Amino acid sequence: NPGGQDAKNLRVKLVLLGDSGVGKSCIVLRFVRGQFDPTSKVTVGASFLSQTIALQDSTTVKFEIWDTAGQERYAALAPLYYRGAAVAVIVYDITSPESFSKAQYWVKELQKHGSPDIVMALVGNKADLHEKREVAFQDGTEYAEKNGMFFIETSAKTADNINELFEDFVDYATSKLP
Ligand code: GDP
Ligand code: MG
Repeated sequence: NPGGQDAKNLRVKLVLLGDSGVGKSCIVLRFVRGQFDPTSKVTVGASFLSQTIALQDSTTVKFEIWDTAGQERYAALAPLYYRGAAVAVIVYDITSPESFSKAQYWVKELQKHGSPDIVMALVGNKADLHEKREVAFQDGTEYAEKNGMFFIETSAKTADNINELFEDFVDYATSKLP
């Protein structure tokens, strides 16, 4: 299991990576507090939050979440956060092809420098902005499949698929590890 503990109480170190502005902090805020704040502040460096959920089989999962800043000037700090992480959530914005390219950069970076058994999720956020979509669902699915990643599209604004992201990804991560 991703936390290395017994099957009943998992502790999962999770890092969020992706371009600035894709909605990483909003995803965490929605998951941890059930809120969406459209005026949320830009993350400086990184921030830490934790949230415990109960799965159907009464297993509890405590997520220790490192929400990183996407800006270039903090890029050198990223290894501090992803090195100890069991799982990584790499986020892009479905209205931004640039952010999808940046997500692919992070996947390669983790494949090269992350823990060899890190389990990754690819997340296309802002799925509520369908009229502005520029990254096809299929493109996300195919890239994730090719790279052995979990894939989901979410909206931190409407809460669509936010709980599913954490719940289904932990199931996926557990099934991938020995
Ligand atoms: P971060 O830099 O990746 O942490 O991005 P933030 O969480 O700070 O969000 C950046 C901007 O995107 C903010 O203005 C949010 O209100 C907006 N945003 C975040 N998630 C969503 C979403 O799911 N839908 C829409 N429409 N806007 C979002
Ligand atoms: Mg942020």
